[in-house]
Formats: sequence, C-alpha cells, structure tokens
Amino acid sequence: MESKNFETQAIRAQMERSENNEHSAPLYLTSSFVFDTAEDMRAAFNDETNDFIYSRYTNPNVNEFVNKVAILEKAEAGVAFASGMAAIYTTFMALLKSGDHLISCSSVFGATHAIFTKYFPKLNISHSYFNTNNVSEIEKLIKPETRFIYLETPTNPAIELIDLEVVATVAKKHKLLFIVDNCFATPYLQQPINYGADLVIHSATKYMDGQGRVLGGVVVGKKELINDIYLFGRLTGPSMSPFNAWVLSKSLETLAVRMDRHCSNALFIAESLEGNSKLENVSYPFLKSHPNYTIAKKQMKQGGGILTITVKGGYEAAKKFLDKLQMIKISPNLGDVRSIVTHPASSTHCKLTEEERLRVGITPGLIRISIGLETKEDILNDILQALK
Ligand SMILES: *Cc1c(COP(=O)(O)O)cnc(C)c1O
Repeated sequence: MESKNFETQAIRAQMERSENNEHSAPLYLTSSFVFDTAEDMRAAFNDETNDFIYSRYTNPNVNEFVNKVAILEKAEAGVAFASGMAAIYTTFMALLKSGDHLISCSSVFGATHAIFTKYFPKLNISHSYFNTNNVSEIEKLIKPETRFIYLETPTNPAIELIDLEVVATVAKKHKLLFIVDNCFATPYLQQPINYGADLVIHSATKYMDGQGRVLGGVVVGKKELINDIYLFGRLTGPSMSPFNAWVLSKSLETLAVRMDRHCSNALFIAESLEGNSKLENVSYPFLKSHPNYTIAKKQMKQGGGILTITVKGGYEAAKKFLDKLQMIKISPNLGDVRSIVTHPASSTHCKLTEEERLRVGITPGLIRISIGLETKEDILNDILQALK
C-alpha cells in the first residue's frame, strides 16, 4: 500500500535498512564503501550502478533524507548539503556563469544578500531586486542574460508573501528558472513545485530539524538541474554528514505534528497581541489584517510559526523588551521547539545599510518571534510581562 498522504510519507517513505531489518534507521558512519571486484568499482564510478562509493558523494542516511524531502515536495530528485547556505551557494554556482543575471525578491536571507552583493560582482554575475510587494516589477527587470527568478515566501524577517503562481507564470513566459527558498513554510504548509517552481531549497537547520541540533540544507526539483547541482557539490565537498542526515530523517517523521502546533500557537499569540497598546504592529500571514492575507490563504495550509511585532519606541524599546523576556531566549535561530526572539536590525540584518533595511521592512522596533511548542499561555504571558 503506497500512500500519497503527507504524514504517512514523512514516516514511511524511503527507509534505508541493512540486512538486520532495523525498525528505526541505523546510522551509517562510514566515509567510504568497498567493492567486491575491480569491475564493480569501475561500474560504480561510471554511473552504471547506484552503489555507494564515498560519503562526499552519497551515503545511505543522506539518501534517505534527500529522497524523503523530494517526495514531500513532489520533486523528481534532490541533493543535500552541510547547511542551507551550502545548498543555496552550490545551486547558484552550478547554474550560473560569468555574465549571467538573476532576479530576486528584495527581502532575502542576509547571507544570500551578501553573496549577491559582495561576491557575485567578482564573478561578473549581476542581480536585480524586485520589491516583494510588487511582483509586476519582475518583467521590467528581465534582460537577455537573466537566468532565474529567486524568492522566499514568507520573507525573513518582514513576513511578506509573494504569489508563487504569478511569479511562476512570468518565469515560464520568459523561459527562466524559478527557484524558491521554502524554509519558513516547509513542504507541509506550502509546496512551490505545485505552482510551477523548478527548484525548492531548504535550510534543514530550521523546522526540518526543529530542535536546534544540526545544520543541514537540501535542494529538490527537476532531475536535470539536480544532476548539475549534485555534481558541483560532489566535486567541491559541502556535503551533508551522515549523522546530520540521520537526525533530520528522524525529524521529518514529526514535521507535520510539530508544524500544526507551531502554527496554532503562533496564530493564538498573533491574535492575542493584535491591538496591544505597546505595539505598532503585529504581522502574521493568517491574521486578516495582514496585507497579503489572500495570498497566504491561497498557497499556505496554515500561517507558519513565525510572527513579527513592532514595538513603539524604536530600538531602545525593542532592546528593553528582549532583555525583559524570562523564558524566551535571544538567538538568531528559528523553527525550534523553544520560542526564540531576534532583533533583525541589530543582528541578522546589521550588515545592510539603514536604507536597505527600511526598504525591506526592517524598522528599528521590529522583532521576529519564532513561536515554539511550549504551552501557548506561557509564551504569551512571557511576551506580555516583557511588554509591560
Ligand atoms: C537560516 C536560513 C538560511 C540559511 O540556512 P543555514 O542552514 O543557516 O545555512 C537560508 N534561508 C532562510 C530563509 C533561512 O532562514
């Protein structure tokens, strides 16, 4: 019986088992694999078999994780990396050449922005940003040398949404690749390939692990593209470790139940904080007051686990709020069982200029809260006492 249902696939698809028939996946901590004959090794190196060769290329644990994510994202194939940034950078390097141009939403992850602005000019690769709230700008930015459109939705940290179907239509019309960083939503809440994305990238460090233990990244999508990305990764070595893959495969088994609770807790907190006299704004995709509420309802199953609040009084008030929290810790991570708070302007996005920050909605009073799985009243009460 082969199920097409998310929870069953996340738990039962693609189990790699040894001859011992383990119920739970064993851990294959081996850098290399052996061959019975010289001919077997020759065949493996010439892609005539799928035998494991060396763990920089593939490993049973890494395969299990990658194949599971590919199934959950409805992708043909995938490849895993040591971190989300390794996945992003390797994808770019495999697909781009000197002279190429890419189009990205203006609010991208800080490190991705740094690659575009600091390192790509050295390689003669240029980029244009479209305003996240204005996808109609995209067509005007297309040049003959444009290779792909890249975006995140919901965006980090401003929690804005971009209509995947609209962008996919533009990409298709102009024969551009469409790449989505789906880290905030996870395949449980949103599957960009259903809307026409060619590649989907994840930092598995966030909700896929979900318990703040390991770094990981994964790219899934069209097989011919994945082959190029895999080859570049296999040669340059930003590979996922078997141990991290083993942890992440286990974590995927609980992704759906964790996301359900992240989302219901976040919606409860967002609704409870809306209208609070100490706040200028509360932003959460499934609040009716969110400017992109219609897009959120169209492409996301639930609103996700991240919300932002904007405190009155700017940076000073934000700092005071963070320092007064008792249970919720200050950290740059997100997507963890523990609620986490971040002040983007002074930390994750401090390398941007003030003007760049404001353009992507990062005001001095903006605070990102990754809502965890603690009892929702405890999360709310900590926030309320700190706001006082
Ligand atoms: C964290 C994050 C990344 C980078 O992932 P790492 O695993 O930290 O390298 C990329 N994109 C988004 C949206 C992220 O939140």
